Amino acid sequence: MTINLARYGVGPENSRGRRYAEPPPTHRSEFQRDRDRVIHSGAFRRLEYKTQVFVNHEGDLYRTRLTHSLEVAQIARTVARAIRLNEDLTEAISLAHDLGHTPFGHAGQDALNDCMRDYGGFEHNLQSLRVVDSLEQRYAAFPGLNLTYETREGILKHCSLANARRLGQLGQRFIDRQQPSLEAQLANLADEIAYNNHDVDDGLRSGLIELDDLLTIPLVADQLASVRSRYSATNARVEIHEVVRGMIGALVGDLIITSEARIEELAPQSLDDIRRHAGPLIGFSEPFAEAQRALKRFLGDHLYRHPKVKSMTERAKEIVAALFSVYIGDYGRMPTEHADSARAAHDEQGPAAGARVVADYIAGMTDRFAMQACDDLQPGR
Ligand code: MG
Repeated sequence: MTINLARYGVGPENSRGRRYAEPPPTHRSEFQRDRDRVIHSGAFRRLEYKTQVFVNHEGDLYRTRLTHSLEVAQIARTVARAIRLNEDLTEAISLAHDLGHTPFGHAGQDALNDCMRDYGGFEHNLQSLRVVDSLEQRYAAFPGLNLTYETREGILKHCSLANARRLGQLGQRFIDRQQPSLEAQLANLADEIAYNNHDVDDGLRSGLIELDDLLTIPLVADQLASVRSRYSATNARVEIHEVVRGMIGALVGDLIITSEARIEELAPQSLDDIRRHAGPLIGFSEPFAEAQRALKRFLGDHLYRHPKVKSMTERAKEIVAALFSVYIGDYGRMPTEHADSARAAHDEQGPAAGARVVADYIAGMTDRFAMQACDDLQPGR
């Protein structure tokens, strides 16, 4: 159990519980149980072979969705402990937040969304929720992982209004424009800190971006100056690690101080005060928020749209589109289990339900599985 939890944090007394009632755990908190169920899921293990930015086979040292999720959890836990939020809950959300990602990162998700245009679209956030609510089948008593409302709320970061209306209680906050728990707000920002910094690190390692180009961003320039003033002769690789380490430390430090001050100012008495507040309370001061935006812009212009990354993403889109068009034309091209559920869904609820089973199957693939599946469909390619 979290010690000294702030009264506006999520605890067992203000949790909205699980969809299927279960006896409370004996030696763990409810949120530790959520975390453990996420770690034991098949979707979590598959994150090891899913792209963050660089396709998995390009090198062993780049981040994958698994190592990304671990970094998010580590950052979120540090902040949660410092400001007395529920560390177990923020960890569970962090580890689960990317479970619904397709192979090939955002390129894969965009391609699948295009393919699903006539069948309700594809949103990776919503897919993460589908994974924990129904696609993981490991327990005899219920479908999915039966996670607590609060972990599910944290997983569903964004959602279109149309989908929010279909989700009932969980979607209601998007309609009412309410906030999620502080633990969910925190996991969201820990995600941003993690990916901006590790994409800088991976981008520099790959040689696709240069440290000198990044010096237009004051946060990077400040950290480099600080490293150079303390260590006169360091090799370039260590210098990069020190800069990235310093940036994460500075962002985390600012997030703690700024969030604490905002919480103190509002003086929330309960979790409901947090939910009803006009905006999120977990956040950066303006200079650090701008530093994050500048990093994101830089990475967008120089890394994500780099010709080498783009040619990889184009290929990824072709693979996803090819798989979708074959499976949607003939469910029988998928393994029996998926083919049978697509046919049943189609017969009972129509073509969109059949397409959803195809999308679930493709979204669950790892990068290498998708490439192999595509090669198998089109011999000689
Ligand atoms: Mg993420």
